[in-house]
Amino acid sequence: MAHTLADEDNTYDARVPGEPAPSGANGCAIEARALRKVYKASGTQPAKEALKGIDLAVPRGSIFALLGPNGAGKSTFINILAGLVLKTSGSASIWGFDTDVNPRQARASIGVVPQELNIDPFFTPAEVMEMQAGLYGVPKRERRTMEILKAMGLDDKADAYARTLSGGMRRRLLVAKAMVHNPPVLILDEPTAGVDIELRRQLWDYVKGLHDRGTTIVLTTHYLEEAEALCDTIAIIDKGEVVACEPKETLLARISEKQLIVRPATPATVLPAALENMKAELRPDGAIEVQYNPAETSAMSILGALSAGGMEIVDISTAESDLEDVFLQLTSH
Ligand code: ADP
Repeated sequence: MAHTLADEDNTYDARVPGEPAPSGANGCAIEARALRKVYKASGTQPAKEALKGIDLAVPRGSIFALLGPNGAGKSTFINILAGLVLKTSGSASIWGFDTDVNPRQARASIGVVPQELNIDPFFTPAEVMEMQAGLYGVPKRERRTMEILKAMGLDDKADAYARTLSGGMRRRLLVAKAMVHNPPVLILDEPTAGVDIELRRQLWDYVKGLHDRGTTIVLTTHYLEEAEALCDTIAIIDKGEVVACEPKETLLARISEKQLIVRPATPATVLPAALENMKAELRPDGAIEVQYNPAETSAMSILGALSAGGMEIVDISTAESDLEDVFLQLTSH
């Protein structure tokens, strides 16, 4: 099989020689249309519609986050792409290859990094890579074991037993393993679940490195911080439906509200009358939180109204909306 990533322009050609070019060769990295999955009822479990006919397009070259609460349908979506779960209806294509029409090329176009750290402890990273390359039918002369291990910061561990690798190194080895057949699209399922902050940032850097070298990255996460820090495009999925899919900045700009937190000298027990017509809340510590739109109301006018009502204010702080606000608003969890 010819899995070559042309060095000069990063155009990827996963075509098997002699086979026709994919219809969507210049289109999306991943495209789903009316993709639906119903898990059949079993035992006492009723049937479950995990994906309710989703449309989703992942642009080539993006770092794309699939964000959503537990049970939203993220793994189902990824597993359909990886060929591990059969869709009920609709269509999916990867790098222009329809998963029904060109299943082999579609599979060759993605690498999937699973959540679990399932690495055989008795093999070395170099052996793990060579075996995986064999499974994907990558000819010996096209293998890039050391190059990929180096990109993931594992070249000095190439011949160490996997059992001696730290958790972070194992995770990086799984990423390296998913890259052996040089797929243009890499999918990471919850890449940093249970990983501490420092390792998380280190892993982000490696993923960014792969992206810089031309790989389209899709990751599922329920860490809003991860999507915000790493991704340029964010889809929010909830109860089997896509509730948003936009460039990160557009998504964040959707909410123009700000919060003003006012701490009175004497903790408040009721909301002051001056805030009657505003979105205000009394916090358990006696501070008052006001949501306001700076285009309509100024922070000074809110503070002025509170002072005029007799409140002595000892401290104020303001906060911009972040992805969490957008997320909560869209998923109402
Ligand atoms: P996420 O990855 O976003 O947490 P999943 O795709 O794992 O969501 O699950 C979506 C829904 O489908 C959930 O309600 C889950 O319980 C259900 N589900 C997932 N896998 C199966 C399965 N093999 N059989 C039945 N229901 C399933």
